Amino acid sequence: MAFPTSFGMVISGDAIVALSAVRRDAAGTTGFFRFVETGTPVPPAILKAEGIPASAMKTALPIETVREDLLAFLPPECVLLVHDSAPVRNVLHHLLSGASKHTLLDTRELAGILFPSTGNHDLRSLADVLGLQPDPDVPDPGFRFAQDSLLILSLWDRLAGEAASLPKSLVRELYALFAPLRSHPLRTFFKTCSDAPRRADAYPEAAGGLRGLFSAEVVPRIEKQNPDGREWVPVDVANVEKLLGAGGILASNIPDYEFRQEQVDMAIRVTEALNASKHLVVEAGTGTGKSLAYLVPAILWAVANDMPVVVSTNTKNLQSQLLGKDLPLLTGLVGRGLKAAVIKGRRNYLCVRKLLFALEHAGLDLSPEERLALAGVLVWSIRSASGDLSECSAAAGPADPALHEMITADASECRGGRCDHRSRCFLFRARRHALSAHIVIANHAVVFTEMADGDSSMVLPPYRHAILDEAHNLEDAATRGLSMELSRYGIHFLLGRLWRPGRRHHDGGILPALTDHLGRYRSISPEVVGRMEQDAVKVMDAMAALDPVIDTLFSELSALLEGARGRESLRYSAERRIESDWALVLGARENLGRALGGLSLLLSAIIETLGHESLEAMPDRENFAKEINGVLVRVKQFSAEAAFVVAGASPDHVFWVERTKGRQGGARAWAAPISVGAMLAEQLYAQKASIIFTSATLTVNGSLDFVKKRLGLNVLEPGRILEMTVGSPFDYARQCTFMVPLFLPEPGESGGNYAEALGLLLAEVFRRTHGRALTLFTSYDMLQGCARTLRAQMGADSGQLLVHGESGSREHITQTFKQQTESVLFGTHSFWEGVDVPGESLTCLVLARLPFPVFTDPIVEARCERLESEGTSAFAGYSIPAAVIRFRQGFGRLIRHRNDRGIVIVADRRVAQKSYGQWFRRSVPAPMQSYAERGAFLDAVDQFVRQMSDERDAEGRT
Ligand code: SF4
Repeated sequence: MAFPTSFGMVISGDAIVALSAVRRDAAGTTGFFRFVETGTPVPPAILKAEGIPASAMKTALPIETVREDLLAFLPPECVLLVHDSAPVRNVLHHLLSGASKHTLLDTRELAGILFPSTGNHDLRSLADVLGLQPDPDVPDPGFRFAQDSLLILSLWDRLAGEAASLPKSLVRELYALFAPLRSHPLRTFFKTCSDAPRRADAYPEAAGGLRGLFSAEVVPRIEKQNPDGREWVPVDVANVEKLLGAGGILASNIPDYEFRQEQVDMAIRVTEALNASKHLVVEAGTGTGKSLAYLVPAILWAVANDMPVVVSTNTKNLQSQLLGKDLPLLTGLVGRGLKAAVIKGRRNYLCVRKLLFALEHAGLDLSPEERLALAGVLVWSIRSASGDLSECSAAAGPADPALHEMITADASECRGGRCDHRSRCFLFRARRHALSAHIVIANHAVVFTEMADGDSSMVLPPYRHAILDEAHNLEDAATRGLSMELSRYGIHFLLGRLWRPGRRHHDGGILPALTDHLGRYRSISPEVVGRMEQDAVKVMDAMAALDPVIDTLFSELSALLEGARGRESLRYSAERRIESDWALVLGARENLGRALGGLSLLLSAIIETLGHESLEAMPDRENFAKEINGVLVRVKQFSAEAAFVVAGASPDHVFWVERTKGRQGGARAWAAPISVGAMLAEQLYAQKASIIFTSATLTVNGSLDFVKKRLGLNVLEPGRILEMTVGSPFDYARQCTFMVPLFLPEPGESGGNYAEALGLLLAEVFRRTHGRALTLFTSYDMLQGCARTLRAQMGADSGQLLVHGESGSREHITQTFKQQTESVLFGTHSFWEGVDVPGESLTCLVLARLPFPVFTDPIVEARCERLESEGTSAFAGYSIPAAVIRFRQGFGRLIRHRNDRGIVIVADRRVAQKSYGQWFRRSVPAPMQSYAERGAFLDAVDQFVRQMSDERDAEGRT
């Protein structure tokens, strides 16, 4: 490619404040930077973030002068490099319009393709991970935007080097992906790479072209005993104590290992449950070390019996901790020959067959985003050992759902033992590893999907023993797994896999690809080709006729919402609805059922024709049949679910219609189980020998009854279930202060602007704590209202405020919060749990409101009604206990280590003033202190901060 010139820029609104460029040509590397007159003062926060002193702006030049200087600086032919360029690209286009024909390439896009395993493609993160060094020939003026242009040029060199080391067949495939985008810079880039002579590379060319690049590891098949009716070998409790006890094997072998009696107690109980084939519910307070307390007996048990124990989590964080920290710690110390494996749902693994099929047949209708994502997946796939798409950042971009559909296979699309790619199949390998493992790490979604689908999707090995960690989330996870959603998007998305009308006759989907493919084989009889083409046309006609039927159903569902009286959703059931209102919906659903039935017949006919012997010469015919079968199975499933959801006849489900956001507006319908307990009891607890339920927050008022009832454990025979509560080893009374400001208005109080009042108070609190604060909200509106006020108060320091939904992904802002010690993080729902920030970065935790379930949520409403109909108060029997568990999760974010200290501010005075407040107060391990006066409250914060700093000084001296 032409010589590169990289850009860094500071923009305020849409005006350029400062601009830098670094040019590389035959003569060497040269830098350029200018400040630009904007006509209005530049916000100090922007200058501060860029390291620009206000005095530097005195050298600013008019934009016309900067433009002329820049044009003189640019070589006549060059590739302009920007990173993460949407705003920068627009400004640069505008600046150079009419004067330059340079190609503008985004190094972030290219890095996403060539470094697809790197989670974060921000320039600075890439610079850290790749060890980028700015060119020493160009002096660094010390401004961030100027350093950016230097780093981009350095990144460009790495990208070019990386591309040059890729196998030629891969680069050719990358070029083919971008070839239809005639003016795309990556088309030129990969064309140049593909034409260039290869250097000795890290990924050598393999026999068999692209498919030969995938590693073909053969994992031997393991024969296991049938678990049914087996006698289990018990684990000696003394061995567990020997491992975990004071001065035991772990304490003697693991540096900094802390003996905890609570951990030993829990491990003994887990052992007893496994030995006796009983279920166990155990709450283990924060700091118990509960993962080792269950892993040690589980490993001993699994090794003794040569049977897997499944350990299921709700979050990726815990999975990572188990795999990256706890299991490696125990390897070699617990259970000889310990083998562990991780297994996820089918849709998490790349299907090699489908990826190659997509590259061959995806056609010309892919969007540029889909091409970028597919390119990243392709590069990642030849290096990946696991095929787990969560390790590929390219698979998590904007094209995500369509891309996942294109490159993963569910049971109906998988060719199983007949697949040509079996030896390269990531899922197959993961299953074989899991079959031979003692500990199989999974997640709740997989456990419940398999429970609901029976054997049809089977990714877990046969098991009879499981540990369900983060069990406070089980009811939600099971509800999600057993719910049905009926949406216009869902059916259009599915049908779009068959046929998507495209521009300039470039239709997308399996059917146009099939007819195109057929035309390439002269040996196939014209009669068969003709029949297939006719069938394909019939399917397309049927799909075209389906559109208005689908539209009618969803329009009629949407019309029902006019009766929702301002609510976002409308519950219904066959019993309660007014038939005249529903006549059109029911009629539309019947029409849809008939139309989908007709479509299914047509698809079956195509699949049958593909099996015709005269098509044997067509190499991809079985792949096409599988692709069409995948759609057929789901069309039938959609039709059956539509009948169930619209009928609303099941008394065990709650049904509702809700508004959808998006540009078109509209509605979707849902069915969800009101209670999951009976299903879990029948399909899980009765089938398994022993299930251990554990979490740091299962009790309410010291009792496990609420969780047991919600999960259906209360209906088991008393002798079948054990329970236990293990306290935390932390000294909460010493380590934290629990404060309630009574002078704030009540959240939701009419006339009292709670969000603003909270923002004003937090500005004063955070000044005293120097940030280091996490604030948890129950609604995004409240979060935004409070953030607005806080920003106005913080002024130049508002850059330290990290806001969920504005400042990046959850992982990114949590990481930034950990690294920038004085920052403040505002988070909503997902931040109430799983955020683990030990140390100084989290010194002040604010819970903005008691986290009651949203009573307008149809599932919550139906659960409350069910309880009331059974004679139980829904508030006392559901809303309060559910809120207490969530409250305890939130509260537990503060103290993560025995050296942590901090303040918890519960900014909801109901916790102190309402009678139900005692449920919350009694459920947390620190005494509450309430303050009627603002001054006294802030004095107490001051005092705590002083005390904490004195203690740290004293610790530093000892
Ligand atoms: S065996 Fe199934 S999942 Fe594996 S590559 Fe073949 S089709 Fe895909």
